[in-house]
Amino acid sequence: MKTTLLTDLTIEDICKGFEYSKLEGKGLFGWSGKLTIQPEYQRNYLYAEEDGKREKAVINSVLKGYPIGLLYFYKPNPEEEKFEVLDGQQRITSLGRYFTNLFSVEDSSEHQQYFRTLDSEDKKIFSETKLTIYICDGTEKEIKEWFKTINITGIALNEQEVSNSVYSGSFVTLAKEEFSNSQNAKLQKWGTYISGNVKRQEILETAFEWIVKSSDRKKIEEYMSCHRYDKNIDELKNYFEKVIDWADKTFTKTYSEMCGLEWGELYEKYHEVNFDIKKVAEAVEKLHGDEFVTKKSGIFEYVLKFFATGKKEPKLLHVRLFGKVDKQKAYDKQTKTAKQKKVSNCPACVIENGKNKNKIWLQREMEADHVTAWSDGGATDLKNCQMLCKFHNRLKGND
Ligand SMILES: [Zn+2]
Repeated sequence: MKTTLLTDLTIEDICKGFEYSKLEGKGLFGWSGKLTIQPEYQRNYLYAEEDGKREKAVINSVLKGYPIGLLYFYKPNPEEEKFEVLDGQQRITSLGRYFTNLFSVEDSSEHQQYFRTLDSEDKKIFSETKLTIYICDGTEKEIKEWFKTINITGIALNEQEVSNSVYSGSFVTLAKEEFSNSQNAKLQKWGTYISGNVKRQEILETAFEWIVKSSDRKKIEEYMSCHRYDKNIDELKNYFEKVIDWADKTFTKTYSEMCGLEWGELYEKYHEVNFDIKKVAEAVEKLHGDEFVTKKSGIFEYVLKFFATGKKEPKLLHVRLFGKVDKQKAYDKQTKTAKQKKVSNCPACVIENGKNKNKIWLQREMEADHVTAWSDGGATDLKNCQMLCKFHNRLKGND
């Protein structure tokens, strides 16, 4: 069996010559007559049921730029440019029905929009969206056999598993030997940085994600298709090891929170920086022990960024906020003093000396602020808590 990937067919192409049989409730033909949407053995169109909830979801996905998933076509006769939909007939029928104005979807201002009433920009998005289609070429028996394996009841194959079967060949075989082999001694080291099930091809998927992001290829499928018959996996393997080795070298101590981070991305951003490994380790350890840091997995990027650029980005760390009790106490104390002095209870409004210099804000109009920013060593406790009006708190920003 042979499979070919098509990525430049647009929705408009597929919808050209779309025919829908109202009587049979079936999408019949598309792609200018080349595509039989619903061969005899397929079930009828179900997406229009329940008030069309599902067909509307397909259209909304397209308009929002979300993928609608892989489509599989079968080419019964290699000599003839004719295709049948193996998987995707419901989605294609939704597209065709929308394209021919058979139903409408609600837009963000709650107006019903048919295809013909969409504004030109949305029309363009819809028409020009490209579909990802696998064309399978082979005997009907082969096709059915293969199709069964991608749809085993209960265990739907994940995308990487499907891709492996679509692009089976020397490259996938070698890649699986390296990345999907539970006997591989390197697994333990990889497990520090990558989460996922080796048998379900999830490490392999990460390896592909990393190399794809580092190159100008947009999709794993594209990469696999291009290397399908390669006799080695050097590029994939070397890049993967470079990322892991860099992480390993940069962080001398390992933490469970390192697992599953976007190491490929961090590598691309920071591998050329000369880090002082000892300082990095100290900073990580300090933050890891800091009870105000509630998102420990953000520490690594925070530290890399800080040593590379000097910028502190506490939002990576989800620094703990002041509690209700502290906020109430700070508010009461500030407001009491302010009233005695007949000035605003927002110290920043007082300093600004503008129209709010005497304003007593309600507590709900104020926000808690670290007097000494957390990133400069200030604690999240009552002593370091002051209430500011929302305007001034946001003006002060960084925490
Ligand atoms: Zn203020």
